[in-house]
Amino acid sequence: MVRELQLRILPEEAANEQSLRRAVCRETGEKPEAVNAVRVLKRSIDARQRTVLVNVSLRVFIREEPAEAAYRTIEYKDVSGCRPVVIVGAGPAGLFAALRLIELGLRPVIVERGKNVRDRKKDIALISREHLVNPESNYCFGEGGAGAYSDGKLYTRSRKRGSVDRILNIFCQHGASDAILSDVHPHIGTDKLPRVIENIRNRIIHSGGEVHFGACMESPVIRNGEALGVHTRDGRTFMGAAVILATGHSARDVYRCLSMRNIALEAKGIAVGVRLEHPQALIDRIRYHSEDGRGKYLPAAEYSFVAQSAGRGVYSFCMCPGGFVVPAASSPDEVVVNGMSPSARSSRWANAGMVVEIRPEDVPHSNLPAHFAVMHFQEQLEQLCRFRGGLSQTAPAQRMADFMQKRDSPDLPVSSYTPGLRPSPLHDWMPGFITSRLCEGFRQFDKVSRGFLTNEAVMIGVETRTSSPVRIPRDRETMQHVTLKGLYPCGEGAGYAGGIVSAATDGELCAEQAAAFIRRL
Ligand SMILES: Cc1cc2nc3c(=O)[nH]c(=O)nc-3n(C[C@H](O)[C@H](O)[C@H](O)COP(=O)(O)OP(=O)(O)OC[C@H]3O[C@@H](n4cnc5c(N)ncnc54)[C@H](O)[C@@H]3O)c2cc1C
Repeated sequence: MVRELQLRILPEEAANEQSLRRAVCRETGEKPEAVNAVRVLKRSIDARQRTVLVNVSLRVFIREEPAEAAYRTIEYKDVSGCRPVVIVGAGPAGLFAALRLIELGLRPVIVERGKNVRDRKKDIALISREHLVNPESNYCFGEGGAGAYSDGKLYTRSRKRGSVDRILNIFCQHGASDAILSDVHPHIGTDKLPRVIENIRNRIIHSGGEVHFGACMESPVIRNGEALGVHTRDGRTFMGAAVILATGHSARDVYRCLSMRNIALEAKGIAVGVRLEHPQALIDRIRYHSEDGRGKYLPAAEYSFVAQSAGRGVYSFCMCPGGFVVPAASSPDEVVVNGMSPSARSSRWANAGMVVEIRPEDVPHSNLPAHFAVMHFQEQLEQLCRFRGGLSQTAPAQRMADFMQKRDSPDLPVSSYTPGLRPSPLHDWMPGFITSRLCEGFRQFDKVSRGFLTNEAVMIGVETRTSSPVRIPRDRETMQHVTLKGLYPCGEGAGYAGGIVSAATDGELCAEQAAAFIRRL
């Protein structure tokens, strides 16, 4: 017999399979030997009351063996002799576009400016150790894209549950833990992601696709108003029946190249602010309502805040419990921060972006084309941040309560940000329309989570890469660029995704539309 159960149990009862089995026997009255398997379908923590509980929905196999595997697998065809499609960028959008093309009988040819995910790790270490940013290989560029050295959070606000489940299943098929299928807030962790990415690359190559590293697209090949391939900086040309452009939100050179060729672009809003870092123990105490913190059985606590201030959203972004603040610049002349965490989320710190919504009309006008207004503002702020940090990857920072009271921080708490912090009056040099809203947001967040606004927390400048500052407009139905046939602007860089899962989903959709277009040729 197979039964589905909903349990509301204590964290220690939900801690592992054995304790779950005991809870199942108590609930069903079955003997332990009758319960052959317990499969967790969904798991979430309810920390609204003093006693923290875990909601679990389970599929229980009583006197019956589980027939189905924990996740569905996809058969990938051999596409060696099939028509090629060029994909620019090996981030989640590009990689999932490639896998979908293989399913559809087309041959993906990926050109990626950065290095493979292992070699990229060495360049990332150099940023922390030597303050050297390789503009082709960093936290944003290289195999796996911006998501490779991240928290690997896999939740999305997308309502398309079916496509999200599909992406999670594909991650499992390539080595991610099947716990991501049941957690309400699934994440893989920066220590596990590289292996999963390598497995996806190997799948693409073994199926007959190609992956070229150190291949930076310089310009698209356009003939008779149609995109047919790309030229790379090292003089190579890659041709295909269509081009999927999945270059992420940090490739400013790509936007400039498209603009120079009169390929339509639009300015897009972003969110800008700082990374805020608290001791994880403090967040655990606040969220789990206990002076003893999270104890042995609860995970590092998370938070998510949103408020309105003077007509703009102020919110926490990409929270990393038990994580690290990282130097995410993609060029040596800027300082940009972001966050990542390992699968165990075991560091002493909790960090999140604290950002304010910026619309194109909010930024100062420049003499650049209108579609570059937000990107220019973003770039200038990142350069100013480097100047304030002391012209290296050291980041300017200020204690949270000091910021609220507009006073300097004479010293700073110990931080996870390895290039180092430098005390700096963020209240003074960050744009006033951002700092005033951050202050208002912090006041509101502290009302719902007492103790959140504290001088134990440090604000680290600046968080600017929350989404793309430019949109590459495409047709809603065909997903082709509005004027350039055969070009599929895809993922976060095109302005149609935000986060790993939505970029991956967008990659799949672009691959499907490209395949339909090629079939009609
Ligand atoms: C530190 C960090 C942590 C993050 N944490 C999370 C998280 O936990 N969860 C989450 O959902 N999201 C997270 N994000 C955001 C997430 O990584 C992105 O939303 C996602 O990676 C976007 O996918 P994409 O494929 O559209 O673009 P990207 O991942 O940016 O990939 C673009 C790729 O294109 C390549 N490229 C760029 N220009 C060229 C060119 N000219 N020629 C060839 N190749 C080129 C780049 O090298 C890159 O590999 C994080 C981002 C960062 C930086």
